[in-house]
Amino acid sequence: MTKIPIKNIVARQIFDSRGEPTVEVKVETSKGVGVFGVPSGASTGKSEALELRDGGKDFGGKGVGRAVANVNQILAKKINGMDVFAQEKIDQSMIDLDGSANKSRFGANAILGISGAVCKAAAVSKKVPLYKYLAGLHKNKKLSIPTPMSVLIEGGAHGDTNLDLQEFSLIPNGKELFESLKIVSEIFHELAKVLKGRRLNANIGNEGAYAPHVDSNRQPLDFIVEAAKNLGYEKSRDFSLALDVAASQFYKQSDKQYVLPADRTSLSAERLVSMLKEWASNYSIISLEDPLDQEDWQGWQEMSSRFDSKMLLVGDDLFVTQKSRLEKGIHMGVANAIIIKPNQIGTISETLQTVKLAQDNKYKTIVSHRAGETTDDFISDLAVGVGADYLKCSLTKGERVAKYNRLLAIEEDLK
Ligand code: PGA
Ligand code: ZN
Repeated sequence: MTKIPIKNIVARQIFDSRGEPTVEVKVETSKGVGVFGVPSGASTGKSEALELRDGGKDFGGKGVGRAVANVNQILAKKINGMDVFAQEKIDQSMIDLDGSANKSRFGANAILGISGAVCKAAAVSKKVPLYKYLAGLHKNKKLSIPTPMSVLIEGGAHGDTNLDLQEFSLIPNGKELFESLKIVSEIFHELAKVLKGRRLNANIGNEGAYAPHVDSNRQPLDFIVEAAKNLGYEKSRDFSLALDVAASQFYKQSDKQYVLPADRTSLSAERLVSMLKEWASNYSIISLEDPLDQEDWQGWQEMSSRFDSKMLLVGDDLFVTQKSRLEKGIHMGVANAIIIKPNQIGTISETLQTVKLAQDNKYKTIVSHRAGETTDDFISDLAVGVGADYLKCSLTKGERVAKYNRLLAIEEDLK
């Protein structure tokens, strides 16, 4: 491939879906431009790469002016002139220049901003769709549309509600993407009726899902099943359910207890797993994300033997898209699926390496949105390009719908 040098890199502060500042980077070559908007989490894993925030009074400390300055004043100088197709080399030189273990010098938001924009500029310069370019980087020959994992009800760090668990998602069984999204859309709207029928709030939270006050952590499952039933949809046949327990958020290390105020109880790891196992069989749950704390490797290991091998035990806060943590998981026989969020690690190359390691070891891969999103639909191309099994995202709010609409366009492209 003929080399095309990067001729300009500019970063600026934009706003994410929560109205908080985030980094946007534009990378230019003589053949085109790539612009990348960096997402941001609300319930971040402890081992994620560092998201650099300014602190101080402005934006409650959440400005990203320092990350932007790191791009414009330092990183751009290093990367300008490099071949836009040299993704790994570019990423590695930023990692080396940063020199820290978690990208804390420049900020993962600064580094990922460049990394993502380079990737997009390369695809444009090569005149190929982004998913095809990513498939090339990943040496993936099987382009396929991921199954949606669509958040319907949210709690925990994502909603102003007493619900302790973070996400209750629908996995539709449509033959094609549009048919799957129809199931999601219809159940989502029927769910509002179910909630309002009980005089519960049907406004939406951070990630575009409902965030009602509940009598118990189990209740959202009943609401979803009721909504589906009203429409004639049957669990297992038409859809399955997925939970993001995000257990680290309510784990009390000192007592080794999972504290669930909505259920007026605290549970040991063993009892929490028993509860989830019982739910799984009653509600057709096929995926449990972060059912235990992010540092309870032994608990995760013991849990594996308690579930059928078909049950997806998904590491998000546990693996934080990092190869070293996934390696440990593989070695210990922990989990069988991984959430992929590029900003947890901070470069596209490292994201691809983690996906490859997961795929080589038969772990299912779930590319995911974050609580703070932009209208950037990069993750849709990423999911197709690497051949991910699922895309986790809600089907409301422009910044989320953008991802599914992009997937619809790609699906048509692939036909
Ligand atoms: P986050 O939530 O973006 O707040 O991390 C998503 C998740 O935990 O899966
Ligand atoms: Zn999660």
